[in-house]
Amino acid sequence: MNETKLDQAVAKRRTFAIISHPDAGKTTITEQLLLFGGVVREAGTVKARKSGSYAKSDWMEIEKKRGISVTSSVMQFDYGDKRINILDTPGHEDFSEDTYRTLMAVDSAVMVIDSAKGIEPQTKKLFQICKMRGIPIFTFMNKLDRDGREPLDLVNELEEVLGIDAYPMNWPIGMGKGLQGLYDRYNKRIVLYRKDADGNRYLPLDEEGHLSSDHPLTEDSTYRDAVGDMELLGEAGNKFDEDQVASGKLTPVFFGSALANFGVKTFLDIYLKYAPAPAPHKDRADEIIKPDDSQFSGFIFKIQANMNPNHRDRIAFVRICSGEFDRGMDVTLQRTGKVIRLSNSTQFMADARHTVEKAVAGDIVGLYDTGNFQIGDTIYAGKHEVQFEKLPQFTPELFVRVTAKNVMKQKSFHKGIQQLVQEGAVQLYTSYNTNDYILGAVGQLQFEVFQFRMLNEYHSEVVMEPMGKKIARWIDPEQLDEKMSSSRNLLVKDRAGNPLFLFENEFAERWFTGKYPDVKLTAKL
Ligand code: GDP
Repeated sequence: MNETKLDQAVAKRRTFAIISHPDAGKTTITEQLLLFGGVVREAGTVKARKSGSYAKSDWMEIEKKRGISVTSSVMQFDYGDKRINILDTPGHEDFSEDTYRTLMAVDSAVMVIDSAKGIEPQTKKLFQICKMRGIPIFTFMNKLDRDGREPLDLVNELEEVLGIDAYPMNWPIGMGKGLQGLYDRYNKRIVLYRKDADGNRYLPLDEEGHLSSDHPLTEDSTYRDAVGDMELLGEAGNKFDEDQVASGKLTPVFFGSALANFGVKTFLDIYLKYAPAPAPHKDRADEIIKPDDSQFSGFIFKIQANMNPNHRDRIAFVRICSGEFDRGMDVTLQRTGKVIRLSNSTQFMADARHTVEKAVAGDIVGLYDTGNFQIGDTIYAGKHEVQFEKLPQFTPELFVRVTAKNVMKQKSFHKGIQQLVQEGAVQLYTSYNTNDYILGAVGQLQFEVFQFRMLNEYHSEVVMEPMGKKIARWIDPEQLDEKMSSSRNLLVKDRAGNPLFLFENEFAERWFTGKYPDVKLTAKL
């Protein structure tokens, strides 16, 4: 691809994630977007997959049992003149780590809110990550076909609880059973929920933003309320400012119903107009890597094993930051300096995966991996070394001691552990003197998934002995004296061999720092 072509290809890309609290409607809206892209022919495909009846893999069993989305995948499709990459994010809070890293690989985010519930804890957490990155955030207030909270109240809550300015792009006319339509402020029209007596779906608004007075809707109090709210917001509300949207300071707000497919297409059209093309990335030397640089570079933000029993490999997900990916190309793995040929790659559609030959900055490519990659790794082609910034790490808070139930099956036990910890959802530690395996995670569910997968994928039955909550603190090996370890602070090594203490509680940590005032402890490595 020559430079102009690369430029044009990159400019077409829109890479984003949908963030929400579980049940707000992320799956339903994703499915609608895929329908617009012509990827799924029938509504219900993604849904069915989520409930387990579609994907029959063992791995999905745990999702079925828990009724939650554990895996996170990537979906690519064309819509209009854009190529869209949606990165799915698991909603359950025990998987927030996975989701946080996925958010490092997107250029913008769509926040779906249940309009009956408003902002829920998980929405807030995920929003904070997007805010920290300064990426544009677009809000979809969902489930308008049900009675929800007052729209003004919802917008106020956005501003107060999340600390972001909001600009409603449209406004509900009624709600639930009384839903008449949307006052489309952006396109200056009314969109009816049900066509009117003359068969119209769209009604134009005049200069003042009013419907022609002979339309029966003007008699409706919900219409008058909507016009009143719009006038109020026009005078006292925020102004639409593209720069503010681009820097994540102002969120355009859309109302609609994903289930009824109402307001979703308008949302997508406007979203694509303002959502950014792939952004430059900073590397650790503070150099700006531009997406249309001809040299290929990218980072691995996720590793996942055995999503499909027919492909029992691990897949490393790479966000391409610059240049073009070509199947079969050689890249350097920055961490080791090793040159690797990328001959086995895949891209994800909603219902199938297929081999990818070419991809450009903004795209996500899945690389079949036999153990080369770790989360956070940079890969690049050419001579110029690139190392992207570290991905956020989360200090585990919950710990279990793990052993193989069947001592004869040590080999599959070790293999399974080594492979699963590389995915990053659970961390592996070994105790100093006894070499016990200890796992740490952010949430309990991670352990359950681990146990389930060990059994199903590695045929290894794992016994987990809960150790409860601990505070993990790393110590400089130079300062370490094994005598510092006691019953209240277990001394362990992480996978890289770095020593750390697992403190029973804050009291134990304070007691330790009191006793060894010169020893520096750190929460993350
Ligand atoms: P997720 O957990 O965020 O992926 O949420 P889902 O898309 O699975 O939706 C959760 C539930 O809300 C499901 O029963 C959906 O059918 C329902 N739902 C989603 N969108 C709407 C909507 O616009 N209106 C109504 N009434 N229900 C919806």
